[in-house]
Amino acid sequence: MTAGDTNSFLGNTSIEQRSAEVLERLRSLREQDAPTHGGRVLSYVYDSGLAALDQLATDAAQLVQPVNGLDPTVFPSTAVMERELVGFVRGFLHGDGDVIGNVTSGGTESCVLAVKAARDLRGLPPGEGSIVLPTTAHAAFHKAAHLLGLELILVAVDPNSGRVRAADIGSALRSDTVLIVASAPSYPFAALDPIVEIAEIARTQSVPFHVDACIGGFALPWWGELPAWDFQVPGVTSISADVHKYGYSPKGASVLLYRGRDLHRKQYFGLTAWPGYPVVNPTLMGSKSVAALAGAWSITQVLGESGYADLVVRAHRATASLVDTIGGIDGLRVVGTPVGPLFAVAADGGVPPDRQVDPHRWATAVGVRGFVLQGQPASTQPDGTALPRTTHLTITPVTDSVLTELTTALLLGADDVRGLPAAGPPPALAELAGAFERGDVSVDDVRALPSEAVAAALVSAGLDPKGTGGSPLDMAAVLAAVESLPREVTTRLLVEFLAGLVEP
Ligand SMILES: *Cc1c(COP(=O)(O)O)cnc(C)c1O
Repeated sequence: MTAGDTNSFLGNTSIEQRSAEVLERLRSLREQDAPTHGGRVLSYVYDSGLAALDQLATDAAQLVQPVNGLDPTVFPSTAVMERELVGFVRGFLHGDGDVIGNVTSGGTESCVLAVKAARDLRGLPPGEGSIVLPTTAHAAFHKAAHLLGLELILVAVDPNSGRVRAADIGSALRSDTVLIVASAPSYPFAALDPIVEIAEIARTQSVPFHVDACIGGFALPWWGELPAWDFQVPGVTSISADVHKYGYSPKGASVLLYRGRDLHRKQYFGLTAWPGYPVVNPTLMGSKSVAALAGAWSITQVLGESGYADLVVRAHRATASLVDTIGGIDGLRVVGTPVGPLFAVAADGGVPPDRQVDPHRWATAVGVRGFVLQGQPASTQPDGTALPRTTHLTITPVTDSVLTELTTALLLGADDVRGLPAAGPPPALAELAGAFERGDVSVDDVRALPSEAVAAALVSAGLDPKGTGGSPLDMAAVLAAVESLPREVTTRLLVEFLAGLVEP
């Protein structure tokens, strides 16, 4: 078929004409998205500031577009890229020849697979087994425990530093614990857990130990003097490092490494006992795109370690400057001692209320001034201590180029809201929270509700996924609702909201 040919299914229109219309529509849809480049969104996106790298990933993705990553014996290019990417990451994480692994679709998949491998190595009967992790470990481990039928044993962190104490991990271990998890650094507070000390406990107790470096893996190796946290530390048995974060590749790529082939092989799922082709899957997917792998591989090939070192210098400079800025804002404080290009900001309880700045109101005010920050709700740990509500900032190399503007927005945003009481939930949800407090409603009541009733509660709270007409969510109010209602109830509400967004 040649350009301009008509197709009976399109009447007199050519595929080219129709394609142009469809792409035009996509372009206009994309205009409603938050900007992925330019440093205006301080979460979700990781902009190197090097447009040539984005183009490289696009070209690489196009080259492999029709390939199925399911079978590297049929498409050997996929094995070459995966082997070289695994080798590159192993090099800067100080792994020797005993460290091997795979490329997964992202941090969540890496975390789930690290837990699966540890569970299967242990070989307990179904329904048994636990994982021990700090409260700050990523939600992906909760998902892993849920999917894999393991019990979560959450260990409180020090509310001041955001770090877990190694001894507390040690006391939480049980005879059925299949894996210990800690973070380098944690997403909520950028706290670097005491990896050496935890690893020593893990080694003497013979429990595998996963270091979640999904966010730090491509930044901490060039960050400067730090306590050891990678494969230099005996007792660390697996590490996850996302290429689609500070590796600057398009979404869909993370590297998961193990020390020891026997543990690594347990990540695989194999099945020859069915009437179809023999299945041997290292990851959760069967047929899979290789586009993200090709993008990640090509970018790491071009940047090399020295390219990453350069980019980390820029992100580090911007981070240090912003941490200083927050330190100088009356009513706000940086939580703990962040390690890596991210940090969390809380209200400064050390000043009188009329000088405090609610971090979520602040995020809204900074948003009005053109920069999108990410709110995190307050929580109570298993030991009863409280972790504050915070606002999270992820800093990238391009942040450096908008630093003056961003600094101004952070300062003026704080002036806009200083002394205002903390943001509260939408009135209908505040009322619901009151009903829970009085005992008029229980979590069981909510569990029994059909989706339609939950959707109606959303609408009455002004959170109609269908009717918002593109107006942005009031995140400060949503997070206040998360804090004031039982967590299971807010989860149910948010699931309903997100599910409603994609209902045709
Ligand atoms: C981002 C992140 C994850 C999850 O990664 P996704 O790529 O979003 O699935 C896990 N752990 C940490 C520390 C992270 O920052």
